[in-house]
Amino acid sequence: MKHEGMKLLLASGNKKKLAELQRVAAPLGVEVVSPADSGGLPEVVEDGDTFAANAAKKASSGARHSGLWTLADDSGLTVEALGGAPGVFSARFAGTHGDDEANNRKLLNDLADVPDQDRGAAFVCALALAAPKTGEIAFETMGRTSGEILREAQGEGGFGYDPLFRFTEPGFPVTGMVFGRLGAEEKASVSHRGRALRELELDLSRLLQDT
Ligand code: IMP
Repeated sequence: MKHEGMKLLLASGNKKKLAELQRVAAPLGVEVVSPADSGGLPEVVEDGDTFAANAAKKASSGARHSGLWTLADDSGLTVEALGGAPGVFSARFAGTHGDDEANNRKLLNDLADVPDQDRGAAFVCALALAAPKTGEIAFETMGRTSGEILREAQGEGGFGYDPLFRFTEPGFPVTGMVFGRLGAEEKASVSHRGRALRELELDLSRLLQDT
């Protein structure tokens, strides 16, 4: 099913996320646009208690404002020994939004006394797709990937907490690897965001057809 001429707005200015979504949408004939391409979006306060609530809020707001199908995501790290923190505060764990180095330092400090067997963690990504104008949520999914937090950073790849996260799910070609050492394709094969986007991919054609 092709949807030539249809536009899908990604409610994020992140170019990497835009490229990932374009790969999913292009075979369907759907053009993915950014907020900058559609005249800008109002700021959304990400004050939800969950990743899913924040993703839905951003998607609905974007769809109502733009009149386009709108996808939004919210993601972060949950650490078992910290009771799920930093969770929805992942980007501003150490105080300043998006200071990856400070966030990583704080994570290592907070876990300094936690033994190796108790350093389990997961990355989580919530995706929400909202319908044009009404902003009604038409599709939601969560992607998750499990691992453990190292005692020091490894690798130069990825972003955020990637250098401190070792992927531990058994049975994958990248099992035991640190996200900071993976290439983009390798990371997407098992990452929370890759998994959530593949769920969306399965349903996107049907969702857009129902309008
Ligand atoms: P956002 O949802 O893209 O704003 O991500 C929130 C925060 O979660 C980021 O600033 C990172 O600290 C963390 N995060 C989300 N996804 C990843 C990832 O794939 N690798 C490392 N950190 C991530």
